[in-house]
Amino acid sequence: MSQETDNKPSNFIRQIIDEDLKAGKNQGRVATRFPPEPNGYLHIGHAKSIVLNFGIAEDYKGSCNLRFDDTNPHKENIEFVEAIQNDVRWLGFDWEDRLFYASNYFEQLYDFAVELIKAGKAYVCDLNAEEIRSYRGTLKEPGKDSPYRDRSVEENLDLFARMKAGEFEDGAKVVRAKIDMASPNINLRDPTLYRIRHGVIHHQTGEAWCIYPMYDYTHPISDALEGITHSLCTLEFEDHRPLYDWILDNISIDCHPRQYEFSRLNLQYTVMSKRKLTELVDEGFVEGWDDPRMPTIAGLRRRGFSPASIRDFCGRIGVTKSDNLVEMGVLEDCIRTDLNTHAPRRMAVLHPLKVVITDYPEDKLEQLDIANHPQDEAMGTRKVPFSREVYIDQNDFMEVAPNKKFKRLVAGGEVRLRGAYVIRCDEVIKDENGEVIELHCSHDAATLGANPEGRKVKGVIHWVSATQAKEAEIRLYDRLFGHPSPDATKDGKDYKDHINPDSLRTLTQCYVEASLAEAEPGETWQFEREGYFCLDSLLSSQDKLIFNRTVTLRDTWAKIEQGK
Ligand code: ATP
Ligand code: MG
Repeated sequence: MSQETDNKPSNFIRQIIDEDLKAGKNQGRVATRFPPEPNGYLHIGHAKSIVLNFGIAEDYKGSCNLRFDDTNPHKENIEFVEAIQNDVRWLGFDWEDRLFYASNYFEQLYDFAVELIKAGKAYVCDLNAEEIRSYRGTLKEPGKDSPYRDRSVEENLDLFARMKAGEFEDGAKVVRAKIDMASPNINLRDPTLYRIRHGVIHHQTGEAWCIYPMYDYTHPISDALEGITHSLCTLEFEDHRPLYDWILDNISIDCHPRQYEFSRLNLQYTVMSKRKLTELVDEGFVEGWDDPRMPTIAGLRRRGFSPASIRDFCGRIGVTKSDNLVEMGVLEDCIRTDLNTHAPRRMAVLHPLKVVITDYPEDKLEQLDIANHPQDEAMGTRKVPFSREVYIDQNDFMEVAPNKKFKRLVAGGEVRLRGAYVIRCDEVIKDENGEVIELHCSHDAATLGANPEGRKVKGVIHWVSATQAKEAEIRLYDRLFGHPSPDATKDGKDYKDHINPDSLRTLTQCYVEASLAEAEPGETWQFEREGYFCLDSLLSSQDKLIFNRTVTLRDTWAKIEQGK
């Protein structure tokens, strides 16, 4: 049972679990949980935690719970609860019947607080937030005891019951653990366990409660009640671990999960804090949580990422304790690798230039069979209509070749239309400003789909039939921020000052192969020579096709960086 499957990279947490199993701990059980707070959508950083927790449960034949850490009702709502479940499922993980809410335990959490009070280990404190802060001391200075610290058990029990009954206003009182105001660990300086919050309707418990437990108090108890063995969280909780242990050591519960910390994922050119992502949404910098530029799971899905590519990414970045800033290129490479293998090929013209094939009959329409994938015959072929008028991309024509590398079409030159004929450009039509608006070409009927002997045409370009193609809008995305770590620049600027104004470029009047009219959201294609694209699941319709570029064909970004 403790054996790792071969394709899963080991990490220090899996090594700890192996050791624990060898030592016979937890009766050989492995139980993890993923505990999101429903105050926003999940992002790629959460995916790291999901893949770690659910992945461990899968590999060790254990279990992983999905638990909403819902102790902050004024920031949480049911939209987030639903979106999170949707995203975890989409990533390919299943919590079966183990969906929990910290709010399921409000009654027990209350009883344990009563137990702490009875044992003289917690008290009701009347200091306000400001005072609590100033009494807390600093890293160098010890804190000061609250004047309410020595209230009798009876008085504390009475006040706590009245807090629960709604007798006091928000902020008038809190319950604090009685630990040590001089502890070198500030988290142990009588941390708050309960606070009063009136007038909020909790998405699960409605108006049943007006006192809410703090995260640091709720989390260890929820873990213990669920029989979690390994409670995995990010490094910022390392200093909270003594409190996690203190809580469990001082209440009558016979399960004591162990907390282990790993480093958060940071990704270049984006931000990962939910507060900042919320601001981007609320202040209209993006179109929503599922905007394809967002690092959210919903955004990546709409952008065309597959669950497999995100799981692959999480495997590649690994799990350690060191700080890291992962290059966006790593994430992009994961989806590129996946789509290179799995995405069928199609043709789409992003900047159309009309080509009239003057020696091709006006009423003729051929259905050419073109392979869906150059390396994978099993993906079959499709019919692509060919007619007298086609569109090619403006970038594939220049009157005069700028250099020898230019293998596309030039005035008087030849090029192959992918899967169709070799054409020659006989005449360049311009408007009154000298802009090229149309090409008149002739075709060589003997070159359909193949090169007759002795015929050397190097350039191959994509095209669509002008009469058969469907018009589409195509959205090209770039980094949301112009700086690799927008929230950590040393120039005193706010992360929002680094927003890239060109992160979305919309091309209208593009033309795509007719077969793409039947496209379904969730499918992704390689548009030959242009990149990987998917239908926009939110905005695209039968009347208006909208495609998102998932990723370019090559890592153009790396090239730019190197060129600097
Ligand atoms: P924020 O601090 O921005 O509000 P959070 O970490 O509090 O985010 P939660 O919903 O509490 O968000 O996170 C759920 C779980 O996902 C936690 O266990 C947390 O440690 C983990 N997690 C969150 N962000 C990352 C990240 N960037 N990398 C790895 N794990 C993460
Ligand atoms: Mg949190």
